Amino acid sequence: MPRPIALKIYPAAMTHNLGIVKQRLARVADELGRAAPKVWAVIKANAYGHGIPAAVSAFAAADGLAMLDFEEAVLCRQTGWDKPILLLEGFFDFDDLALVAQYDLDVVIHQQEQLDMLQRFESERPIRAYFKINTGMNRLGFTERSLPAAWQQLQALVHDKRVHCLGTMTHFSWADESAPATEEQINRFLALNPAPGLPISLCNSAATLHTRWQALLPPHEQWVRPGICLYGATPFVEESAHSLGLLPAQGLSAEIISIQEVLAGQTIGYGHTFTAPQPMRIGVVACGYADGYPRHAPSGTPAVVLGQRTQLVGRISMDMLTVDLTPVPAARVGTVVHLWGQGGPSVDEVAQHAGTIGYELVTAVTPRVPRHIMTSI
Ligand SMILES: *Cc1c(COP(=O)(O)O)cnc(C)c1O
Repeated sequence: MPRPIALKIYPAAMTHNLGIVKQRLARVADELGRAAPKVWAVIKANAYGHGIPAAVSAFAAADGLAMLDFEEAVLCRQTGWDKPILLLEGFFDFDDLALVAQYDLDVVIHQQEQLDMLQRFESERPIRAYFKINTGMNRLGFTERSLPAAWQQLQALVHDKRVHCLGTMTHFSWADESAPATEEQINRFLALNPAPGLPISLCNSAATLHTRWQALLPPHEQWVRPGICLYGATPFVEESAHSLGLLPAQGLSAEIISIQEVLAGQTIGYGHTFTAPQPMRIGVVACGYADGYPRHAPSGTPAVVLGQRTQLVGRISMDMLTVDLTPVPAARVGTVVHLWGQGGPSVDEVAQHAGTIGYELVTAVTPRVPRHIMTSI
């Protein structure tokens, strides 16, 4: 028998979350009297841990899919996705370009070497590309200084029919809080954009859900790039996924494999980080950091047992963690403990306790955890 741990995936929740995003965009576009932006569903990192095949069918209503890995892009095509696929980091070396051409992929061009590789690549049709501008993230993209020469080189590639420029894009560095940074980045983008008539792409989940940014953007074709919100976690520090109407697209759960009755003053687990203040019933759960549960989640991190919220006590081990069953007297060996997502605390809440973000938890569940695709929520 496999260990009693499971990661349940809910494609219906992913479809629902995409619907929430599209609804919000449609409402604000209507107010502004323009067409709603198109949506690239971001499915990098194995669809944020949810699996590419599940994402391809769940996001059938998206206008495109965006990711980083060629393997994932090819899998999307093999799964039958025939709409645009955008490689957010473009191609990494010259040989990648053959795959770009073969699988009809769109690429982001963000640095000089990519332009040089395109110069050497012989293709039957132009490679479709977005031109990325660095407006303050300082990670990928051309800056004010490098942009003019790069754009000129790109125009030459377009002229030679080696490249078809789809549009321009940038990425926000601080859209998850109400910082002035986003407005500054929008203004910088509009000032630097060398092709004001072409489609643009700026917004991640946070900027997509905070629709007030839409009014600052020009009315022509726009593509948004939501990721995390499609999986039912919040991109915001201050706003929960639930309050945004999002549904968790995964649920991590494991069974109790042992129960210990401890006396007041006894400690639980490695390092004696938790001492029972009174007699307690402790459930030992078949999930540890080797399954992707964060080891730094402290005592007090929530979990749900038989519909009752309780908390972790003591350190996370490699293959086990321990929960307080005192408030759940009906729990037995074999009882399911919901650790995050559907049936449990939100992944964002667990992440906050562990000093990280939901993004890290959903993408960190390890391959040894069996995945189950659920047909309904
Ligand atoms: C990951 C990523 C996104 C999606 O970000 P979320 O915060 O998950 O919505 C959008 N654009 C780029 C370039 C990315 O790398």
